[in-house]
Amino acid sequence: MIQPTPHIEALPAMTPFLGPETLARAAGVPPESLIRLGANESAFGASPLVTQALERELPRIPYYGDPELHDLREALATKHGCSPDEIFVASGIDDVLSLCLRAYLGEGGLALAAAGTYPTFFYQLAGLGGRCETTDYAGTRPDIEQLADLAQLRKPAIVYLANPDNPGGGLHSRAALTAWIAAIPPETLILLDEAYAEFMTVDELLPLQIHSGLVPNLVRMRTFSKVYGLAGMRVGYAIASTAVTATVEKIRQHYGVTRLSAVAALAALRDEEFVRRVVRETASGREAYHSLAHEIGLGSYPSSTNFVLFECGTVALASRLLPALLKRGIFIRKPGSGALASCIRVTVGTPQERELFASNLTAVLASLAFEST
Ligand SMILES: *Cc1c(COP(=O)(O)O)cnc(C)c1O
Repeated sequence: MIQPTPHIEALPAMTPFLGPETLARAAGVPPESLIRLGANESAFGASPLVTQALERELPRIPYYGDPELHDLREALATKHGCSPDEIFVASGIDDVLSLCLRAYLGEGGLALAAAGTYPTFFYQLAGLGGRCETTDYAGTRPDIEQLADLAQLRKPAIVYLANPDNPGGGLHSRAALTAWIAAIPPETLILLDEAYAEFMTVDELLPLQIHSGLVPNLVRMRTFSKVYGLAGMRVGYAIASTAVTATVEKIRQHYGVTRLSAVAALAALRDEEFVRRVVRETASGREAYHSLAHEIGLGSYPSSTNFVLFECGTVALASRLLPALLKRGIFIRKPGSGALASCIRVTVGTPQERELFASNLTAVLASLAFEST
């Protein structure tokens, strides 16, 4: 009889998220016509340099890509002022998380994170049979003092923190984060998820010197899925000490980032003006969402990302908005549990998508109010 590994057999059938395509099919909406404001993908597309580079590369797809991803790592090293040996590239941050956990968690090892933060971390951890202890949120960001206290007490193999946080959208200051990193035991690997780094100001972002030799247990994770608009290409990377990158290289899938994905990422890096434009448009979209919330009597929280949390007041109302909007062809998500569960999380869309979201949300709220009278 074939038998799965016991910890995998014990897992419920699950995915970190039900995909928007799955949700659309279940709601009877054609997936390709869905307005996607639920996965924090970029509404602003990718740089035209990416399209050109992909077209040039297409004839070469019969060949495997460069297993060392040399050119991309060189370009990233130049951007970050580090050595290419301090960078490894994988199929998104999701893959970076999995690789670091596989390399450092150990059999039944312990990891810490804030309950309710980015679900894929918990998903990858569960798949490896890891143990998990969680801490709370303070407002729209994880309570990092609590996280540091617990790390000192339990000396876990791994601690995970997203800054800015998803789904909270809030961030910790550079000074607070620097102190937090220093408070984590040296035997704990720090997975710092900076998926939204490009939306932060230079003053908010942790200095680039805070990596590699100075803090050998810190892994800073970045992605091409957000500001660069390449979520479908699956490229993410880590900036870490050479000890960590050399370790991960022993188990990384050397062709996991495809030839086309690597070329797309490299081209995206070259278009800095495009990135600045997306950051500007995203900021004005966030402002539009804050005004909308104010107009229709919902709250909203400051965000340093490409999404905004709307405060609906009750978990019941927030939960009813998701299926009601989905039926109207609009996909959003909400934090599953905890203090933010009364919120909906809405990605900044194009002006036209924001308009559609606003009119449909207004209509749904009106019909729910009518029902309850
Ligand atoms: C979107 C997001 C990611 C996704 O990363 P990929 O590179 O697409 O795997 C990772 N972490 C956080 C916090 C995110 O919001």
